[in-house]
Amino acid sequence: MDLYEYQGKELFRRYGIPVSQGSLATAPKEVRAAAQELGRQVVVKAQVLTGGRGKAGGVKLADDPADAEAKARDILGLDISGHVVHKVWVESASEIAKEYYLSITFDRGIKRPLFMLTREGGIEIEQVAEEKPEALARLHVDPLEGFHPYQARRLVYGAGIDDPNEQKQIVAIVESLYRCFVECDAMLCEINPLIVTPEGEVKALDSKVTVDDSALFRHPDIAEMRDVEAVDPLETFAAEKGVTYVKLDGEVGILGNGAGLAMSTVDVVVVAGGRPANFCDLGGGGNAQKVVDTLEVITRDEQMRSILFNVFGGITRCDEVARGILSAVGQLGLELPIVVRFDGTNADEARRLLEDSPILHVEPTMLEAAHRAVELAEEAP
Ligand code: GDP
Ligand code: MN
Repeated sequence: MDLYEYQGKELFRRYGIPVSQGSLATAPKEVRAAAQELGRQVVVKAQVLTGGRGKAGGVKLADDPADAEAKARDILGLDISGHVVHKVWVESASEIAKEYYLSITFDRGIKRPLFMLTREGGIEIEQVAEEKPEALARLHVDPLEGFHPYQARRLVYGAGIDDPNEQKQIVAIVESLYRCFVECDAMLCEINPLIVTPEGEVKALDSKVTVDDSALFRHPDIAEMRDVEAVDPLETFAAEKGVTYVKLDGEVGILGNGAGLAMSTVDVVVVAGGRPANFCDLGGGGNAQKVVDTLEVITRDEQMRSILFNVFGGITRCDEVARGILSAVGQLGLELPIVVRFDGTNADEARRLLEDSPILHVEPTMLEAAHRAVELAEEAP
């Protein structure tokens, strides 16, 4: 579960990581009142679950309450990479002398938490890693040994932070961030930028926190932060139907029986020059009703132009899936082209069942099926 900036900052505040004072608002008038309350220059920040808000015009400084209200009018309703802004965070503006970057996440290869710290903050960390890898200090923490203060010092020296006053504050922040990461069952805690003010004060100007969904039962206070309105309505519908569905932003719908097969299907569609509209796993033993439910979910996506249904029959019998497809086409009145690849148990019988339908296209291999699905998506109006 991804947290909004203001929620991540609330966790940071609890762990003693310095953040600016602020408040949440949903209307320009509320922003004006919040700015009045804060009583000085403020920054109005779009609260959306995506990065790059600054560049998209979602972060603006305001000199007085009237200006804050005007800036809020610009930001509320803005679309930032498909996320519409409904809430803004208004906080006391900070003066920035330096922008650093600090994060902790899992290094899955090494199976340990990994800290990253660099003086090259404010920009995307991937860019730093690519263009100036020597500027990025990395440090793994052995979870069995736990965290030791010398590790924070090593990280800070490694990043080339040589001001003793900054070192002291950042060491404390690193230690607090580790506690926050572990105690909240987080998967990512990122501060970008971690700023130094002209007076030499270090603080977190932004936050990006992801908490492990499987651990939310241990954190009712964090679980409550979930914004039900921000969840894609289609994903909610899929969950109700018991279908594993992830919305993507392409045109070719992907359906496979088994997560591994569905993921390979996503890759093959990309190889064939298409863009997947979703990832959908029918699961093992998919019966006809499950196929109907699944097609009902994915066909609600209006951007989708064709569907690639990739079935490997093992326990699942291909003919059963074929019957499901036929009844879904009938029940739902589907008109979208559906390309089907069958292999395994009863594949021949399944292919025969689909022969007569004008919208069903049976292809012998996964790659041919992917090419066909991409072609049909391009031809579609
Ligand atoms: P992001 O673009 O989504 O990562 O949003 P951030 O919270 O990181 O803000 C983007 C940029 O806005 C930061 O890198 C800062 O340069 C700038 N910014 C944010 N808050 C302040 C502030 O209080 N004062 C000043 N001067 N700049 C700010
Ligand atoms: Mn940021």
